[in-house]
This record gives sequence, C-alpha cells and structure tokens, in this order.
Amino acid sequence: MNRLHLAQLRRTLSWILGQLIGPPMSPWLPIAVYVPASAGLVLLGVLLGAPAWQVGVLPLLGLALWSLLEYGIHSLAFHHTVRFLRLEAVQSAHARHHDHPSWPEHMVSQLSFSAPVALVLFGLLYLTLGSLAAAALVLAGSLIGYLAYEVVHFQIHQRRKPFWLPRGLIKHHLYHHHKDQGRCFGVTSPLWDHVFRTSFKARSKSG
Ligand SMILES: [Zn+2]
Ligand SMILES: [Zn+2]
Repeated sequence: MNRLHLAQLRRTLSWILGQLIGPPMSPWLPIAVYVPASAGLVLLGVLLGAPAWQVGVLPLLGLALWSLLEYGIHSLAFHHTVRFLRLEAVQSAHARHHDHPSWPEHMVSQLSFSAPVALVLFGLLYLTLGSLAAAALVLAGSLIGYLAYEVVHFQIHQRRKPFWLPRGLIKHHLYHHHKDQGRCFGVTSPLWDHVFRTSFKARSKSG
C-alpha cells in the first residue's frame, strides 16, 4: 500500500512540477491560478483597510495597466533584444509561437515566467504607490487583464473562432503574424499600437 501510494504521489508531484515549469496546453492553468490569486488580492486590499472607491477603481486601473504591459512585453521583450535582461528563453519561446502559431504548447505563457513577472510588478506597484492595499488592488486587475490576453490570444489561433471575439482583434493579431512582426503588438486591444504608431492602419497612411 505504501509503495503504491508513494509511486502515485511521485507521479502527481511530477505532473504538478511539469505544469508549473512546462508549457500549459490551454489558458485553464493560468485561470485556475490567477483567478483565486486576484480574488485573494482584492480581499487583501479590503482587509488592509482600502476605502470602497479604491476597491472599485484600482482594479480597473490595473486592467488598463495590463493593456500597456501587454504591448510593452510583446514589442520590447519578445521582439527586441533587451540586453540588460536575459530574455533569450522567452524570446525563443515566442519565436516558436511565430513558427507554429496553432501549436497550443507555444501559445500560453509558462507559470515560471508569468509568476515572477507578477511578483516584480507587485513590488514595483508597492514602491510606486507606497501602499500594500493599493498595490494588491491594482495587481488584481492586471492579473485579470493578463488572463483576458491568454484567452483572447488562444481563441484567435483556434480554427473555429468564438462568436464573441471581435473580428478586428483577429485581423490585428493575424497581421502581426503573417504580414509584419514589427507591428500590431496589442492582442486584447489595438489602443497602444495606435498611440505608438505601430498599427497596420498607421503604416498604410504613411506608405
Ligand atoms: Zn499569436
Ligand atoms: Zn509576436
């Protein structure tokens, strides 16, 4: 009995480890991790005494912050060599996604990448805002924004696109894949591509 249970425990632990350090095959793993984490962060904000307006507004600011981060991470970290950070692993993972856009193992970020980024963001928010409660509430919104990115990106690359996915977003991301990897970096929103003039519309105007 003990030996059987030990073997089962070992298999379970190696599966958990594989999920944590290996590539998730769908957005379900990040959803399972970050939805409770996000709820926990809101609860933390409340328990630390954040006023009601902060509980309502700061997660929305976190969502907006994610949209900028999504643009920045995709354009700066994934597609350009930022030399002071060792980003070869994530850049080559993203390059594999460009080589094989429909392969699920190259679509969803590994927890070993997203979790440290979330921790660094939490630290930066705390240093900037000077409040643990405010940092927790902003991060809660950013995590939900990140999950929206994973779900939207995953669905864009499915053969059958869901009805709720705006065609403009599909076109925007597929342009990045098939026309110009130096443009259309936003996935959940084309907003920052318009701001930084990297949208395909900006190019067609100037060209
Ligand atoms: Zn893609
Ligand atoms: Zn890309």
